[in-house]
Amino acid sequence: MQGMLRKRLLDALEACCPRPCPDAELNEEPRLDACADENEFASRVAEVGLHLALRRRLEERRGEIEAALKRMDTGVYGICEECGEDIGPARLCANPTAHLCVHCQADSERGRLSRCA
Ligand SMILES: [Zn+2]
Repeated sequence: MQGMLRKRLLDALEACCPRPCPDAELNEEPRLDACADENEFASRVAEVGLHLALRRRLEERRGEIEAALKRMDTGVYGICEECGEDIGPARLCANPTAHLCVHCQADSERGRLSRCA
């Protein structure tokens, strides 16, 4: 069971690796003087912003996967970090990077919501 999940995590990690961007321009801040007009500049800003947001998301995801693999190596994978109970195979299958059981996850989401209110 854990061997299979490890493989899935490694595959997912591979998919998250920041590859050199095929469009080198997207790795740079857009410059107004390189654009024909303000409309073009605006669309370049949007494009680069989206690209950066996606890259940040991938990096976050990679961090979660690496943390899960580290938990496997240290033998605490599948154990809730909050209450120490087993997270449960169904939940791990659906979300191999889960580090909280379904109850603690719900609690932490409720806590986040109430802090915002
Ligand atoms: Zn828990």
